[in-house]
Amino acid sequence: MSETFVEITGLKKSFGPLDVLKGIGLQVNRGDVVCIIGPSGSGKSTLLRCVNLLEEPNGGKIVVNGVELTDPDVDIDSARTKIGMVFQSFNLFSHLSVLANLTVAQRKVLKRSEEESRRIALHNLERVGLSDKVHSMPAQLSGGQQQRVAIARALSMDPEVMLFDEPTSALDPELVGDVLGVMRQLADEGMTMLVVTHEMQFAREVADKVIFMDGGYIVEEGPAAEVIGNPQEPRTQEFLARVL
Ligand code: ADP
Ligand code: MG
Repeated sequence: MSETFVEITGLKKSFGPLDVLKGIGLQVNRGDVVCIIGPSGSGKSTLLRCVNLLEEPNGGKIVVNGVELTDPDVDIDSARTKIGMVFQSFNLFSHLSVLANLTVAQRKVLKRSEEESRRIALHNLERVGLSDKVHSMPAQLSGGQQQRVAIARALSMDPEVMLFDEPTSALDPELVGDVLGVMRQLADEGMTMLVVTHEMQFAREVADKVIFMDGGYIVEEGPAAEVIGNPQEPRTQEFLARVL
């Protein structure tokens, strides 16, 4: 189980004169959970957005399951369907029911039949504990429920890897646990996951590897017990002193 599934080398991304990622190297094994921590503005979201091809890198290489996403000839649409992403702000289609949120991309992108997309949607709603909300509209759900719908929607595309960008940061504290519980269950089922989070307890318990980013670099990485429990770099120590 130590097969490299995501391999990032020398990844650079600038916005105009602003160098945001200054050479990121990262390996994720199949089935592993990597948590990315670090101060605001350090480039965490940009890193995830590059992996999902929402941003075009200025240099370096990203390979996911043997497919080089940074190859100019890659079929971006096909590659992107294999990478699920969950954002802080849920991003559900507010005018569509929960069921339609889960079926629309299956039908349009994967060309699944109505019946099959519906069956897969119901299966994934069950996985996140929301079978009873299938006909609700997003506005009728709590933030935590909306985020679990967003996770079920991503899962319905059969992703090979899931990216989470601060999935619980916009939630009321009492709703955070349900979302982390779903993520924990996914990790237990063997999903490969990259998770930007400020939930240090989750990172300690679930992450196979923790990455601390600052200023566009990976400053420190290793098992959670080391990076969070016994950080070596002064910048990691300062950050953790502020958030723990
Ligand atoms: P983090 O997620 O760690 O808070 P981000 O990756 O969102 O950091 O942002 C890193 C830096 O890149 C910030 O200074 C931010 O303002 C800048 N940035 C992010 N996206 C853009 C963009 N589309 N255009 C210009 N600057 C951006
Ligand atoms: Mg961010």
